[in-house]
Amino acid sequence: MPVFGAADFDHHENVVFGCDEATGLKCIIAIHNTKRGPALGGSRFWNYENEQDAITDVLRLSKGMTYKAAVAGLDLGGGKSVIIGDAKKIKTPDLMRAFGRVIESLNGKYITAEDVGTTVEDMDHIREVTRHVRGKSTGSGNPSPLTALGTFLGIKAAVKHHLKTDELTGLRISVQGVGNVGYYLCQYLHEAGAKLIVSDINEKALKRVEEEFSAQRVSLEEIYSQEVDVYAPCALGATVNDQTIDQFNTSIIAGSANNQLAEDRHGQALLDKGILYAPDYVINAGGLINVAHETDDYDLGVVKDKIDNIYTTLLEIFQRSQKRNLPTSLIADHMAEELFKEPTTAEAAQ
Ligand code: NAD
Repeated sequence: MPVFGAADFDHHENVVFGCDEATGLKCIIAIHNTKRGPALGGSRFWNYENEQDAITDVLRLSKGMTYKAAVAGLDLGGGKSVIIGDAKKIKTPDLMRAFGRVIESLNGKYITAEDVGTTVEDMDHIREVTRHVRGKSTGSGNPSPLTALGTFLGIKAAVKHHLKTDELTGLRISVQGVGNVGYYLCQYLHEAGAKLIVSDINEKALKRVEEEFSAQRVSLEEIYSQEVDVYAPCALGATVNDQTIDQFNTSIIAGSANNQLAEDRHGQALLDKGILYAPDYVINAGGLINVAHETDDYDLGVVKDKIDNIYTTLLEIFQRSQKRNLPTSLIADHMAEELFKEPTTAEAAQ
């Protein structure tokens, strides 16, 4: 089972395996890069089929956090952790505290937060043994409305660049997934005068946006082929793939979902098709920006100012992409790497 040789190892600074016999804790903390600051990234509690899957997941997620924090202009590095097991069966306050002690042993190099399978209550238990934790119940709360705000601003930037207008009035926008982020995004878009087309597997969530924002529902498959100005994926990853690219009838793809491109090459495929893509980790950074500012003097105004920058960062990415005829996804990666990679000794000497 390779770790150093794993596809996503990519020069991780630390990968720490933690174990606690008394509580059954098995965890991995991956710290990709701390050149900009301590590595902030959530703790995922997941019943992985095998340990290799857990390693692959934590390395991939941790690397992604480095890119996301750098482009968001945060003084933070990238890291992530996974706790292996069925949360419903094994999660206890003691286990979370044991996990907190592994975090504490890293002396602040890694800061945790909520992710899939962990809650604000879990963060409170971790907080009992380490201060290197964000997202506790006394903190800034649900990040989804702020992720939605950043996504809304990102859509506006894409519309400005590609459709040459500041107005969303009358634009047709499809939103896949109207859960936590999707619901608030629909609210912003509806208030801005957009016409909404939505899909979800959750009947209650669909009804809510139909009633409150006059959204029109379509089936799970039909969402890809809708004739729209913007397709906003807010549910699943990898919805930009070989099958969907042929179906898209949109000018722009801009949504909150993580890992929207099934493979890197799909960024080029979108460019070839003339579809403007807002790179996922740039447009969906609102929640991270919020968590990053969760200090004792938390100020929502400061957080919103930072989230405003998503608009200008995306405009810059779109302009660079146009100038160099390169996919926006690649431009975003280069921009992040410029920000978190130090020059090598040879480069510095030149
Ligand atoms: P959520 O679970 O609250 O909402 C997802 C919605 O998608 C649910 O309503 C679910 O029923 C629906 N869904 C599931 N399968 C679907 C399908 N096949 N077709 C259509 N709808 C489907 O999650 P969320 O917090 O709103 O996050 C949405 C996306 O944004 C996720 O990819 C998440 O990783 C990403 N994201 C969220 C945040 C945040 O602050 N919550 C931050 C960054 C990125």
